[in-house]
Amino acid sequence: MDITEIPVEGYERVVRGQDAESGLHAIIAVHDTTLGPGLGGMRMLPYATEDEALTDVLRLSRGMTFKSAVADTGLGGGKSVVIGDPATAKSEALFRAMGRFIDAVGGKYITAQDMNIGNPDLEVVAQETRWVTGLDRDQGGSGNPSPSTAYGCVIGIEATLQEAFGSPSCQDRTVLIQGVGAVGGRMAELLKERGARVLVCDLYEERARELADRLGLECVADAGHEELACDVYAPCARGATLNDDTIPRLGCRVVAGCANNQLAEPHHGQALRERGILYAPDYVINAGGIINVSRELLPGGYDEAAAMEKIEGIRDNLAQVYEIARTEGVPTHEAARLLAERRLEAGRSAQA
Ligand code: NAD
Repeated sequence: MDITEIPVEGYERVVRGQDAESGLHAIIAVHDTTLGPGLGGMRMLPYATEDEALTDVLRLSRGMTFKSAVADTGLGGGKSVVIGDPATAKSEALFRAMGRFIDAVGGKYITAQDMNIGNPDLEVVAQETRWVTGLDRDQGGSGNPSPSTAYGCVIGIEATLQEAFGSPSCQDRTVLIQGVGAVGGRMAELLKERGARVLVCDLYEERARELADRLGLECVADAGHEELACDVYAPCARGATLNDDTIPRLGCRVVAGCANNQLAEPHHGQALRERGILYAPDYVINAGGIINVSRELLPGGYDEAAAMEKIEGIRDNLAQVYEIARTEGVPTHEAARLLAERRLEAGRSAQA
């Protein structure tokens, strides 16, 4: 295995791992470990060039630093990418080599699942390194993060309702969910239990219809759904749904959903503010999964009840974001960044 440093300003360590025998070509980026080791998923994609993979891993690892700082997990930011086609290039030798590569970073980077990486892949990685989280429960891990993400989002919706309307209650609030997959589907269920009127849509309409029929929700068409009048719009399908086209047409008072990278561009945060729409920054409200997995690293290991309690901290994290936005006159995505930077700064001062 050849491990070579890639010097990148502003990153603690970026390394390339290449192993001729297994065909591994991967990059690990450790962005910042001020608050703890850099935890972030491993993704596998057929990147056209190493530069493309590098750009992705740098962006994602930096994002993890901010996400974990706001989530208060005691973790920093890191991420890894394996360059290759997940349909053809996966092998035991490849993931064993990846495990040795992760091990060589000495615990500054801790891995988990991300795009195209499943539990069977991580199980192989775990044979070579102990710096693996998110394995199935029967292997001592915290398992599928989606229910935790969904629970955290519902706590976050309550916190956002509190800010927008002066009450956290979901009772009789109309919530529109786009994307009823692993997270959105569970959110629909939890919101219904809390007395909300839940509207659902999905690219696969039959998926939304089946859920609606089963839980007593309303299924709406995906096309043009943004315009429907509702209290809360929860994007739970894909990124960049808040953009020049959709923002003028939004019929909601609040945007609070689990999808990553909801703002097409940072300036769309200001556009929402100008329309009087309160936006729950995506990486703050969707942190339930990372909070859940972070509990595996505590002495004594993972404890579901304690993890759920910690996820409820999303309420306070969002309250702090909204307070900064209010008192400093900035959009909420900017307030989230400020909160993360202040926590990192406090961490640096404590270490000095
Ligand atoms: P999923 O694949 O289980 O569900 C996504 C749903 O959205 C599917 O039902 C799909 O049909 C629908 N969808 C996809 N593209 C669509 C489109 N263009 N229009 C309408 N519907 C569309 O995914 P998930 O795990 O529920 O994650 C949803 C989002 O939340 C993703 O952006 C993911 O990155 C983010 N997220 C997930 C977690 C987690 O724990 N799973 C954590 C943080 C963030």
